[in-house]
Order: sequence, then C-alpha cells, then structure tokens
Amino acid sequence: MTTPNFVSTPAGRAPVVAKTEVVVVGGGPAGISAAVSAGRNGASVTLVERYPYLGGLASGGMVLVLDDMHNDTEISVRGLCMELIDRMHARGLCVYPPEADRHPDARLTEEVLRRWTRWGMFDFHTHTKPHPVIFAAAFDPDGFKQSSLDMVGEAGVQLRLHSWFTSTIMEDNRAAGVLVHTKEGPQAILGDVIIDASGDLDVAASAGASYTDGSFIVTTVSRMGGVDVDEAERFQYEEPEKFLEIDREAKRIIKGSWDYWWLRTPLPGIVWCNCPHMTGYDGMKVADLTAAEFDGRNRMQALLTFARANVAGFQNAYFVDFAPQTGVRQTRLLEGEYVVTKKDVMDRVHFSDSVCRGRDYYTPYRALMPKTIDQLLVAGRHYSVTPQAQKLSREIPPCMAQGEAVGIAAALAVNAGITVREVDSRAIQKQMRTQGADPGDVPAANALVTEAA
Ligand SMILES: Cc1cc2nc3c(=O)[nH]c(=O)nc-3n(C[C@H](O)[C@H](O)[C@H](O)COP(=O)(O)OP(=O)(O)OC[C@H]3O[C@@H](n4cnc5c(N)ncnc54)[C@H](O)[C@@H]3O)c2cc1C
Repeated sequence: MTTPNFVSTPAGRAPVVAKTEVVVVGGGPAGISAAVSAGRNGASVTLVERYPYLGGLASGGMVLVLDDMHNDTEISVRGLCMELIDRMHARGLCVYPPEADRHPDARLTEEVLRRWTRWGMFDFHTHTKPHPVIFAAAFDPDGFKQSSLDMVGEAGVQLRLHSWFTSTIMEDNRAAGVLVHTKEGPQAILGDVIIDASGDLDVAASAGASYTDGSFIVTTVSRMGGVDVDEAERFQYEEPEKFLEIDREAKRIIKGSWDYWWLRTPLPGIVWCNCPHMTGYDGMKVADLTAAEFDGRNRMQALLTFARANVAGFQNAYFVDFAPQTGVRQTRLLEGEYVVTKKDVMDRVHFSDSVCRGRDYYTPYRALMPKTIDQLLVAGRHYSVTPQAQKLSREIPPCMAQGEAVGIAAALAVNAGITVREVDSRAIQKQMRTQGADPGDVPAANALVTEAA
C-alpha cells in the first residue's frame, strides 16, 4: 500500500471561550505591551500565548539584553519598556549603566568601558572602536516572565496560555477572531480588533494579508554557570594577545558569533552565550528548526570543552540551560500600508504619522497595518519592513514600543466606535506621550525630516 500525501481531518465545531474588544496573539515583548496598553486604555483584552510563560524570545529565547533604545544622549524608548526595566530592577534582576557612565565625557574612558563592555552595553552601531557605553539593560529571563505577568494581570487582561493560534476568523474582509488549538481541542476567541504579535505574522498571513518571506541567522542561545567572570575579564584586559588568540579559536569552533561570545548576567557566575550564528535554517520549517537544535548544541558543547581547557575563568564552567525557544530572528514580514526601508532606518527618516521609535529611527502607524484586512494591526519583529531594514530595527525595546502604540490605537478605535484605519495617528502620539513613551512625533536633532507619503 502506498503512503497517501494527505489525510482528511474532521473540521468540528470550536466553542467560543472568550469575547473581548481586543484580542492579542503572541505574549512576547510586542504582545505584552499591546495587551497592557489596550487594557490600561479601557478596552477588554484577551492575550493568547502558546507557551506557559510570557516574554517570547526575551524570556523563552533567553535574549538577555534590551538594547537599541539610546540615541546620542537620550533614552529613545521609554513607556512600558522602561516600566518593565524598573520592575525587574526592583527585583534585583536587571542591570544598566548609570547616567554618569553614559555621559559623553565618560563613556569612552577605559575604566567605564571595562565596567560595561562585558554586559553588552555599548553602541555597536558606531563605525569606530571601542564602541561607547550607552543605555541598555541586562536582565534575568524569569524576571522578565514574572514582571510581565504582573503587568498583564494588573491591566485586567484575560490571559490564555497553552493556546496555539491556528487560523484567523474572517467576516468578509474583517478579522473577527482567532481559532486556537489546545489540549481541550479547538477553541474560538472573538474580538473587535485583532493584534498579531506572533513574531511570524501567523494571524495576518492566515487572514490573507500580503507578506515577504525573510530570513536571518538562527541561534540556540544558552547560559553557562560556574564561571569566574572577574578572572575572565582580567584575562581579556591584562593578557590581550593571548586572549585574542584564544577568543578567535573559540569563535572558529562555533563557526560564527558577534564580537563577544559571552556576556555577564545579573546572576553571579552565570554568563549569556548569544551564539552560535547559524545560516541556512528557515525559522518556519519544522525540519530546519529541529536540525538547528542539534547543530547549535553540538557547536556549543565543543566550545565548552575548549573553554574549560583554555579560557581563564571557565575551568569549572557548565551549561545551566539552552533556551526553550529557538533563536529565530526573522521570518514573514508584513507588506502593509507602508514598508519601512533600510534607507528609512539608516537615514533616520521621520514620518508625520510616526507612533513609536527605536534607537534613532521612526515607525509610521501605516507600517503596523495590513493593506487589505480590516480591524487587524501588527506589532513586533514581523512589522511592515524590508528584510534588510528589519535586521536593523527588530530589537526588543522597539518591538515593545510598537505594541504600546497599537494597543492604544485598538483602544481608541473601540472606545470611539471607529475602525483602526480611522484612528488619527496624532491621537496615538498624544496618548504615547501621556504614558511616558516617545512616539517620535517630534523628530530628534539627527533625524532627516520628511513628510509622510
Ligand atoms: C538569538 C537572538 C538574539 C537577539 N538579540 C537581541 C538583543 O541582544 N537585544 C534585543 O533587544 N533584541 C535581540 N533580539 C531580537 C528580539 O529578541 C526579537 O526581535 C523580539 O523578541 C521580537 O519580539 P516580538 O514580540 O515581536 O516576537 P517574539 O519575541 O518572537 O514573541 C512572539 C510571541 O508569540 C508567540 N507565538 C508565536 N506563534 C504563536 C502561535 N501560533 N500561537 C500562540 N502564540 C504564538 C510566541 O510563543 C512568543 O511568545 C535577538 C533575537 C534573537 C533570536
């Protein structure tokens, strides 16, 4: 008997388990912000997440530095992102450089560089080295999960974990809800506005929105414990030639890394390994994601063996954990009302309908909205952007800022009984400012001012 190519499944009926004004899919940085922001602005909100925790790549992917939020001497992403930083800091689970160390007179001094470089708190966008110290925040993944849960709970958001989005419920051209797969079987969640914060554009793609297939390096992130971090730093600064030779070999073993293959974390003796860089894996494909897990772990096991034998401070190192979520940086990207280009990001092009900012670039409301689908907004790494531009504008803080902006937009729409397309971007900007966030309505001194097309 030959194996069939397809099997038929019973369609079945899905019970409606929730009906709220706003439904957010994806409990990562963008989705948390969107849900909290919509909830605080008076909308009833359901937040759907496939895993048993919040934070997405920030916690489950163990991406442990919040960066891309500092422009020259200003912190350009504030609002909910900064609130989360403050909450983690209050728990002793977040570390960032004080203002004095970010001052132009101090940030390139040897003492300050040595204090913060191994925390990953330097401006890697500058073309000259050493990179100056900037504001960024190193955090603990469980601190992110707990603080997010607190914020979502306090905002009155109905949280539905263990719910895997499967398809968008459409009424003509309007997104009207989502179907999720659960241990109890399929369930339906209905809403007036749907926000796609899945990172992979699952909801918008299912709704029929146009998108581009992007891809970038994939990483199996890990943490090592038992590291004498002070000794490792001493080795780097006091035996620079030997350090460079050994460090080069470490990076050769894993076949690709940023400048620093380990960084400090708020937990003593535990370092973050944001490596290896692996190419050729599609973050949407089961076989690729499975192969990446073997590949990444093998490379890192070889690195651990080498580090124990050769890297000062790593003699007793061991793996604490590998991130439960594979480090996928880019997959589907929306082709929305406006597609942000690399030139827009690099030239710091300002848009009059900018509703949020990253480091020194601006996101127009139109880049968070699909062209043809109504009542659907997107936020996060799958926003409407070219693949090249996404590589420069995908970090956690700007994704949180996007979430905060679309959460406001959704609440403004339901409160006023209008569509999200009809929401005036100036009203979003105003509320972003009220929430302590920077919508980018006033271009920074180094922005290239243009009018919205
Ligand atoms: C290895 C790596 C290193 C990085 N380094 C940094 C760094 O140093 N600093 C920095 O700021 N950023 C860094 N980034 C980028 C940053 O982590 C991401 O761009 C950011 O987390 C995107 O946030 P998001 O909310 O858009 O998506 P995600 O973090 O991917 O969150 C999406 C959420 O949606 C959920 N979801 C997805 N599909 C479904 C579904 N079908 N049903 C239900 N739920 C679903 C996921 O479980 C997840 O919780 C890095 C990324 C990677 C991969």
